[in-house]
Amino acid sequence: MRINFKISKAANKYFFISNLTEWHFSSRSSYNKVWLEKSGPLSFKEKEALRTVKRVIKSKLHYGRQFFLYPQRRVWTALKRELNPADYLTLKNAFNLFDRRFEKVWLRGKLVKWKSSLEKAIRSAIYQKCFKEVERLFSSRKARSRNLTVHLLPCPVKDKHPAGSANLGSTAITLEVPVYNSEQWFLEAALAIIAHEFSHILLDDNLKIKRLIEKSIKRRKLRDFKLINRKRPSKEIVQEILIDIFVPTGYLSHKFLKEYSPLSRTSYFANLDRIFGEFLNFKQKKLANFYWLEAYLTWQLYPLAAYYVERGKSLDSRFVEEVLRYFE
Ligand SMILES: [Zn+2]
Repeated sequence: MRINFKISKAANKYFFISNLTEWHFSSRSSYNKVWLEKSGPLSFKEKEALRTVKRVIKSKLHYGRQFFLYPQRRVWTALKRELNPADYLTLKNAFNLFDRRFEKVWLRGKLVKWKSSLEKAIRSAIYQKCFKEVERLFSSRKARSRNLTVHLLPCPVKDKHPAGSANLGSTAITLEVPVYNSEQWFLEAALAIIAHEFSHILLDDNLKIKRLIEKSIKRRKLRDFKLINRKRPSKEIVQEILIDIFVPTGYLSHKFLKEYSPLSRTSYFANLDRIFGEFLNFKQKKLANFYWLEAYLTWQLYPLAAYYVERGKSLDSRFVEEVLRYFE
């Protein structure tokens, strides 16, 4: 697999504006706070523009894939073709209106620095090995070996864990890097997020495993789970856990990353009661917190994950069944 890192001004501007509209549950309000502190409070005109453009972003842009997947000079021609004239104008006007504000916050220099650190790190043998394990675990046989573009976006909040998303199809992901941090821990956390999002892409293409998950959910008559901040179908939650068991929380991070090792975080030991409590809530069909639930399952399934990695196995029906037992 080849990983390319990309910084696109158009994609960064889309990220800035769409995040300000808070159109999606995963929008980062903490970023908006920092951006507005730096560039001043929103005017009435800007608030109105965000309100109108939110509808276009939510219903027409499919996670803004046009801004990420087309070359920058062709983005607006493509949008003109895809959108009706009124929506196109709404979007274009919002982009013009937020131009000066965006210039104040976008920090290209810091992203460039992160890009070269990531490029250097990803070439090292240990990370190459980690990504090979990810490919073996999650991909169906025919989908092996591919190129992945990682679009770099800024996380402007200091000391915040890097984040990512895999909503752009099978060749690209986004990575939000903490632009005010450059320590090894953050670099390793960013690599773990890349591995996590890449796993999503592989799993999404792996029809065999997806079918096994669906069947298993049906057989167990699992309904959609009640989770704090994660009102998502049970199928998606199961997939999330299947990946987290390996990376970023579980075994692969522990095995390959030196400083970043979520399982040895003191916060987990300090919160053992909470971790068990959330799992009980979940079992009793009460509202449960995904963060602690994930910690519990990753701990419980650590030996299974280790076994699969050390034996060079790919995900199979046995693995899916062992994980799904916890959801009954
Ligand atoms: Zn995920």
